[in-house]
Amino acid sequence: MTAGLPLERELPDRVGVLVLGSGLAGCAALLAAAEAGQFAVMIEKTGGIGGSTVRSAGLTAFAGTDEQAGQGVADSVELLRQDLLETSRHLADEGLVDLYCDHQLETYRWLTGHGVRYGEVHAASGQSVPRSHPTDTTGMLVKLLKAAGLLGARLLLDTKAERLVREDGRVVAVDVTTPHGPHRIHADAVVLATGGFSQSPELLARFAPQMEHALRAGGEGCQGDGLLMAWELGAGVVDTPYLKGTYGIYHRPHPDEDGTGILAVYKGAIAVNREGRRFVDESLPYKEIGDAALAQPGVTTYQVLDAQVLAQTSDEVPIYDFAGRERAGLLVTADTLAELERLLDLPEHSLVDTVTDYNRRLADGTPDEFGRSHLSGGVGTPFALEVPPFYAHPSGTVVLATYCGLTVDTRLRVLDVFGEPIERLYAAGEVIGGFHGGGYMTGTSIGKSGIFGRLAGAHAAAEESELAW
Ligand code: ADP
Repeated sequence: MTAGLPLERELPDRVGVLVLGSGLAGCAALLAAAEAGQFAVMIEKTGGIGGSTVRSAGLTAFAGTDEQAGQGVADSVELLRQDLLETSRHLADEGLVDLYCDHQLETYRWLTGHGVRYGEVHAASGQSVPRSHPTDTTGMLVKLLKAAGLLGARLLLDTKAERLVREDGRVVAVDVTTPHGPHRIHADAVVLATGGFSQSPELLARFAPQMEHALRAGGEGCQGDGLLMAWELGAGVVDTPYLKGTYGIYHRPHPDEDGTGILAVYKGAIAVNREGRRFVDESLPYKEIGDAALAQPGVTTYQVLDAQVLAQTSDEVPIYDFAGRERAGLLVTADTLAELERLLDLPEHSLVDTVTDYNRRLADGTPDEFGRSHLSGGVGTPFALEVPPFYAHPSGTVVLATYCGLTVDTRLRVLDVFGEPIERLYAAGEVIGGFHGGGYMTGTSIGKSGIFGRLAGAHAAAEESELAW
């Protein structure tokens, strides 16, 4: 994975823009800073690039792209904006939503200009039209890093940022540790792109005790370091009450679980609990389904599919790769619902009655008991689950990204608890809060990392430089 990357072993004493973290936010910031003519250096605390970005489903929410046009999808920036605000339950910072909307298409063109390619576009949570663009995340980061390397940027692995150093009111350096010991790197500006804290049980317990039974995924290095370093300088945090897990992951650690799970519910499946009963409107954002699932007895639930749902499998989009899961033995399969019920050890008649009732309501037009009228968001029409074989995917909730974090302004400057910028400190990606508010649209975590990372890198590069190189 490191072949051709602009790897550096020698620790610099002074750089222009210092980027902390090598997920998409960091890689976009590094390249943008290098393109702006700055000496940009990235440090990554683990031995490999990518953080949670390369463990995600790899979907980006863009509106107005070539892929959408090719598939005849009519989308617009205004519709994207409206969906973002509604999905956030109007709790998102409108300035950040506008920033995303204003810069998403140019960032898409910037990424594709650097060779990033997207596959077939799908609808997913919070999207009133299909706008989830799948891509190979590792390939994307490698392209950005190589392009940055050609402009002189450098990457140091196994180098952990420990503390931000502030002098005369501005951030001037970062203290780091390396396998060879501690070091201080001076910088004109610092971009925090250290990701979230899905791998920190302490921070999760502090902000989201309801996640006690959730599984944890995400980059191994995503432990909230950036949050803590910025807190020390008085940074504000926002959106912590809305930290949520993602529904659909296999219910226990499994070698063939790629960390994202599946969302067969968005292609027509239903979700049932261990009593064989539905418990939620399955068209809701998968964060909200995740909350509902965590509240079910025994926590584990089942997505129940029939052959019609399985037939919609896509090997391009991990969350819809039902056939791949079947091959990996992650689906329980039966010729009848009664047999499936028995294999899952559900109470007798429970699943059969649930599906019979679900199908009957669809046939005679009785409103769904949980208010489901579409398959995901406002897209797709529910259909009867009646074509054998039947399948069940034991599903839990996983914390992959944490969605809350530092307060920033629309220049991506980190703001302190009183709303004043902490000079020369920028942040982008998963480490920031304010953008998702109370809900989450698929593809906006990667989206905000790319869009805001690029902007943060450019703004950081525009700071007055004391560096001649
Ligand atoms: P984003 O989507 O915001 O880019 P990611 O989770 O993909 O977030 O990437 C964050 C990266 O930051 C991870 O690779 C993680 O290991 C790295 N990281 C976290 N803390 C530190 C730190 N203290 N110093 C350097 N890198 C860090």
